[in-house]
Amino acid sequence: MKRIFEYLRSLMLLELLKGLSLTMRHMFRPNITIIYPEEKTPKSPRFRGLHALRRYPNGEERCIACKLCEAVCPALAITIDSTQREDGTRRTTRYDIDLFKCIYCGFCEESCPVDSIVLTDFLEYHMETREESILTKDKLLAIGDRFESKIAEARKKDAAYR
Ligand code: SF4
Ligand code: SF4
Repeated sequence: MKRIFEYLRSLMLLELLKGLSLTMRHMFRPNITIIYPEEKTPKSPRFRGLHALRRYPNGEERCIACKLCEAVCPALAITIDSTQREDGTRRTTRYDIDLFKCIYCGFCEESCPVDSIVLTDFLEYHMETREESILTKDKLLAIGDRFESKIAEARKKDAAYR
């Protein structure tokens, strides 16, 4: 009896009709996928992307080589060398972040007393060699220069919430 029922069912192409009705139902529903990069999903204001080193408005780098960020980094991703300048201030001679080690926890940003190292919301980057995964001081300062207005604006908003 069961076999006869299944045979009749296959003759009536019920499974095919079921599949087609499902397709038709989804044809008129709004898409849940987006066309990247033309379309983008919203980002959390707390999103942590690529790192940057900031400067003061007069062009002087903010970092005073206190090495707090290096000490606090749980992934040991930051390497800093420093020296004293002729005017008595201390500055870094090397500031590297290994992006393959970094876990984007944001501790470096939180520990910095002069708001120098920050994590931007920039996420569209890639690297093709092992060397490119090291963000050097020059690269970090260049990223800071590129995103300074955005970073400063975000800082103002943060201050308003506090
Ligand atoms: S975000 Fe976290 S893991 Fe990455 S460099 Fe900063 S402290 Fe280290
Ligand atoms: S980035 Fe900030 S915490 Fe790190 S060495 Fe420079 S001043 Fe210190």
